[in-house]
Amino acid sequence: MRRVSIFGVTGSIGQNTLDLLRRDPTAYHLVALSGGRNIVQLARDALEFSPEVVVTAFEDLLPELQAAMAGSGVAVQAGAEAIARAAERPADWIMSCIVGVAGLTPSLKAVQQGATLALANKESLVAAGPILMAEARRHGATILPVDSEHSAVFQALIGEDISTVERIIITASGGAFRDWPQADLAKATPAQAQTHPNWSMGQRITIDSASMFNKAMELIETKEFFEVHEAQIETIIHPESLIHAMVGFHDGGIMAHVGPPDMRHAIGFALHYPERRSLDVARLDLTQIGQFRFYEADEARYPALRLAREVMRQDKLWGAAFNAAKEVALDRFIAGDIGFLDMAILVEQALGDMDRSGLLSTEPRDLMDVLQADETTRERARTIDV
Ligand code: NAD
Ligand code: MG
Repeated sequence: MRRVSIFGVTGSIGQNTLDLLRRDPTAYHLVALSGGRNIVQLARDALEFSPEVVVTAFEDLLPELQAAMAGSGVAVQAGAEAIARAAERPADWIMSCIVGVAGLTPSLKAVQQGATLALANKESLVAAGPILMAEARRHGATILPVDSEHSAVFQALIGEDISTVERIIITASGGAFRDWPQADLAKATPAQAQTHPNWSMGQRITIDSASMFNKAMELIETKEFFEVHEAQIETIIHPESLIHAMVGFHDGGIMAHVGPPDMRHAIGFALHYPERRSLDVARLDLTQIGQFRFYEADEARYPALRLAREVMRQDKLWGAAFNAAKEVALDRFIAGDIGFLDMAILVEQALGDMDRSGLLSTEPRDLMDVLQADETTRERARTIDV
């Protein structure tokens, strides 16, 4: 039986992962499940899958989780430390799908125990890419990207030599406001931003899709995971969200990965890799679709993309600061404190302030350095007036 842990099980990726495990219940032994504030869902999943341990990230919710799990025989714990320890429990396959920088520790613990890390948490690569990749190498761990674009690139590269890659093209749906006039964006509300035209995802990544901060994160993820140069990475608006990414080679050929917008494809690929198992998800009817459209991703309309370029060129602690500032900007937008377009202004200003104070120019040695830059940037971003 494969030993499996899922960090962030109650979210959109976590629930899709359980959907796949459920299809072959005798194949998996669940080691650890973690969640956040949704104790009802977390307890339901833990009662169904009987992991060795179930953890909520929030200590105040421990009594509620204990009550819900009473008599189950499953160990019940709470807090970020408990999540870190749960990620040290031996497992073969670990899904990292917490949203935000809180997902970094379980990702790192997973590779340090030499497990296969199914990586949905994009913040891990954005904030600490070089550290995560180096630790994976050192411990012989495999990282399989679960973000659909990166799973697509990974699949297009099977059997290929990365040195023959000329360009990696990451597609973007354009998010909720793709067809909005620029002039209306300033007034866009969180409720309007959290509907995605093609994908069903968590609230935060959906809003990040509307602002293109999600795509900005994905460009950085691409650089860190595939270890290519910033100039090799392109982005393009593709409203259908059916081509998830393309890889262009030195001979001019392009491999495109095409599939329905269903995360169970990328998760299933990572679950069964290196096998490609039959998967009962929707199939595309290409004649029904008729056409694939592509538009330029305008960096003036989407400043997040321009900022991602700067972050990729600067490297060092810029990714950690970028992610932290973006998380605070998103919190403040959701809270109604700043407008939709203010998010990018705030992130740019926070990065500028951090840079001027000399805090971004050192190479992070370990997770502590990354979390320090994360915290300092958050403090700054919380107080910036936009
Ligand atoms: P979600 O909001 O639906 O779920 C997030 C999970 O993280 C939940 O289990 C929640 O309880 C947990 N969580 C939240 N805050 C936490 C904290 N401080 N400590 C510990 N746990 C915490 O998010 P999602 O859409 O499933 O996305 C998860 C991750 O995967 C994100 O990094 C996202 O960018 C990435 N991702 C998601 C999709 C998608 O289709 N949803 C696609 C690609 C990448
Ligand atoms: Mg994606």
